[in-house]
Amino acid sequence: MKLTAEETAWAAHGFTREIARLAERPVRIMEVCGTHTVSIFRNGIRQLLPANVELVSGPGCPVCVTPNEYLDTAIAFSQRPDTILATFGDMLKVPGSHSTLLAQKAQGADIRIVYSPLDSLTIARERPDKDVVFLAVGFETTAPTAAATLLQAERLKLTNFFLLPAHKLVPPALRALLSAPDIRVDGFLLPGHTAAISGLEPYRFVAAEYHKPAVVTGFEALDILQGIYMLLTQIACGHAEIGNQYRRVVKPAGNVAAVSILRQVYQPVTTVWRGLGAIEDSGLAIRPEFDRFDAGTQLPLPAVVTQEPAGCRCGEVLCGRIRPEACPHFGGNCTPEHPVGACMVSVEGACAAWYKYGQGR
Ligand code: SF4
Repeated sequence: MKLTAEETAWAAHGFTREIARLAERPVRIMEVCGTHTVSIFRNGIRQLLPANVELVSGPGCPVCVTPNEYLDTAIAFSQRPDTILATFGDMLKVPGSHSTLLAQKAQGADIRIVYSPLDSLTIARERPDKDVVFLAVGFETTAPTAAATLLQAERLKLTNFFLLPAHKLVPPALRALLSAPDIRVDGFLLPGHTAAISGLEPYRFVAAEYHKPAVVTGFEALDILQGIYMLLTQIACGHAEIGNQYRRVVKPAGNVAAVSILRQVYQPVTTVWRGLGAIEDSGLAIRPEFDRFDAGTQLPLPAVVTQEPAGCRCGEVLCGRIRPEACPHFGGNCTPEHPVGACMVSVEGACAAWYKYGQGR
């Protein structure tokens, strides 16, 4: 049911009043997802909260958590003869160690922006003389589509289509955050779109093992206010469970068909996150039976030499250790037009959101 503007304003006022009533002590809430970060800024939600409720951004921007080594490998593929790189547009400006995909494209590399992995299949069919490599970056939300694309490539018997997988899973990253002794988080706003795929079960450990409340939350302003209210309700009475504010989309069991496709094509693997390092079973690797579609094993490349941008503190931003404005580059030599690190590139990056919407609180 869609609320009128007046009803929305009343509901927002009600949640804001209840949040103020429940916030009896300083509380630190992490919005795990970059889409939440942007919505919080765009809707001025920080300004609606009492001073003792702090929102901190987490590792939920897929482009931001993808380490430089992957970017460097993608750039190396773009320089490979007879290769077309297909990618979502948000990867283009992300700085690798020595260049960007955008710079490579300007120098003549055949890099195509696609809006779905399936678009890269079309390219592969049109150009059988080329190897087409799709940069498969993203969380649980986008991984099923990439997996379905691989299965479609198999049905079409394509021999020139490959994935370069860098998919990541959110729950293992939460475990890494919760295990870090220097990171204090009192509760989590969990991403509604990843939970729509995985369901609630993979998140239960947050409450069961770490006694931290978490609420799967949608992306409208009211969703976020309600999610914060649901978290504070738990925190106020010392309770911890995985709440579901986004019931209109997220079912407890998730999307069974999508998870089935994921499991058919991928298997969990240890992978590296910017800021969090290597996390066990936090990535998705192509299963051996589909190895012929894995660019990393099928298309030879020289080893890449990786280095992080000097002084960039993206890793600390992504773990909630610092706010973007604490980075010495922020707003000076690091801006969305001239980004130093990945968090300033992506529209879902915390640094980009803080820069675009003002520094908030
Ligand atoms: Fe990295 Fe720029 Fe953010 Fe600093 S402001 S952490 S350099 S992206």
